[in-house]
Amino acid sequence: MNLILLGAPGAGKGTLASYLIEKMGVPSVSTGNILREAIANGTELGQKAKAFMDAGQLVPDSLVIDLLKNRIAQDDCKKGFILDGFPRTIPQAEALDTIASIDCALSLEVPDEVIEGRMTGRRVCLKCGATYHVVNNPPKTEGVCDVCGDTLVIRKDDKPEVVEQRLATYHAQTEPLVAYYEAQGKLKAIDGTQGIHQTEAFAVAALGL
Ligand code: ADP
Ligand code: ADP
Ligand code: ZN
Repeated sequence: MNLILLGAPGAGKGTLASYLIEKMGVPSVSTGNILREAIANGTELGQKAKAFMDAGQLVPDSLVIDLLKNRIAQDDCKKGFILDGFPRTIPQAEALDTIASIDCALSLEVPDEVIEGRMTGRRVCLKCGATYHVVNNPPKTEGVCDVCGDTLVIRKDDKPEVVEQRLATYHAQTEPLVAYYEAQGKLKAIDGTQGIHQTEAFAVAALGL
């Protein structure tokens, strides 16, 4: 199955993706993680993307569409994939429709009021991409990644000022994708406010896994 996870920043896409990877036996592709890795490695892509990301704006479509195309052309995506954070604009969705056949877009519904607490408590591992929350999903040892042992950090764009901009960007440019996939008959929506395990259960039911 080729699955898209839709939802506001902090709605829980990455967290659900890490569960669905095991359940579905397919890889997830997070354009945000790929871009953060590119910044950490100082690549040309990273240099181009950094200012947009720090400001809570989207990286230009041309850059992310190429990146996504190359990633899903790799062998491990042949059996299916989960997209986390792509597409984020209508042109990205249209480009995706020309390179892959999407089975389902699963939308995680979380109101803006809940998002701020998700972001302020989020801690991430920049080495392996694992995501935690100080209250909702703490690591076994404070500040240390369960998966790879690296130090957990607060994402630069999870500061309250930038979160506000990211939510505005989301409503203006990404939310229209809900109607886009609904029109294609591919949309499934679930409540994303009910805790991590309940969200997983809703997703399993919605996807018929
Ligand atoms: P979140 O977890 O908050 O949804 P991501 O890790 O997916 O955030 O993305 C972080 C930032 O990376 C975005 O604010 C944006 O600048 C950039 N980005 C990630 N994916 C895309 C994309 N598909 N199109 C444009 N920009 C993107
Ligand atoms: P996204 O990828 O959509 O930006 P994340 O998966 O990184 O979102 O989740 C944002 C934060 O909220 C993380 O700190 C994560 O641990 C926490 N979180 C994710 N899903 C839930 C949930 N269903 N209930 C409570 N907290 C959650
Ligand atoms: Zn890690």
